Amino acid sequence: MITTVLVALAAAAPVPADAYGVATQISRWGPRPAAGEREARAHRLIRRVFRRAELRVGEQEFRVPGRGRSRNVIGVYDTKRSCLRIVMAHTDTTPFGPGANDNASGVGVVASLAGRLKLIKPWCDVWLVATGAEERLYTGSPDHLGALALARRARSRGGRRRLQWALSLDEVGRDRPFWLRSPPSAPRTGVEGVLLRAAQRAGARVSWVRDDGTGNSDHREFELLGLPGMKLGVGSGGEPCRHTPCDRPERLDPVSLRVARQIVERALQSTDR
Ligand SMILES: [Zn+2]
Repeated sequence: MITTVLVALAAAAPVPADAYGVATQISRWGPRPAAGEREARAHRLIRRVFRRAELRVGEQEFRVPGRGRSRNVIGVYDTKRSCLRIVMAHTDTTPFGPGANDNASGVGVVASLAGRLKLIKPWCDVWLVATGAEERLYTGSPDHLGALALARRARSRGGRRRLQWALSLDEVGRDRPFWLRSPPSAPRTGVEGVLLRAAQRAGARVSWVRDDGTGNSDHREFELLGLPGMKLGVGSGGEPCRHTPCDRPERLDPVSLRVARQIVERALQSTDR
């Protein structure tokens, strides 16, 4: 009887859909190492958010060698055009901290976009993705495994022709102005340029800074497959709490999360390329 009531209460618990609500909720649960139960729990929450937003929801499972299985949760928004834009954020953390800024913040912004797509009317098809198994420190893999699976899927669905850009949101919960990062030697008009102009329209300052080497977030695997990728994230101050117990939800700044969402919304609405 008590169990029944508890189950009913759990089912009725409201699922947050705003970036701050989602980011604080999943980081309160504690660290979310790849292929672990908390990563899966965060993915279930995002799946519910995508379903409620009436996106077409897909799940892409993959192996994390030595750890188990992880997944990407993908929410698809279709338009009458075939061009495609991807906005992704990694759900997992290292075992050393609750990953509020790294990267419940990005997942929160992805979640907050889901319910806004109908309203903002994106110019191209959109895949919103909560990726898994990004933290190479924990997986021991040379690649961000969720992004690798996702980039291959994008390529097999006409990515070379369709994909205009894949944007990783990673550490967007504090420390503005954000940096936009990618590996090329200069910003490309139809990739970084779109984000920089969107930021301008949103009244936000964003600087492009070239990646060190091939990059340290989910956009890396797209670039390595020859698909355009970039990352919006922490600015010049860096993230002193990255991969440590102090990366806690109390440090998240709702304004940063909102600015990130507004930038991405304008980029999704943009007809530039
Ligand atoms: Zn990260």
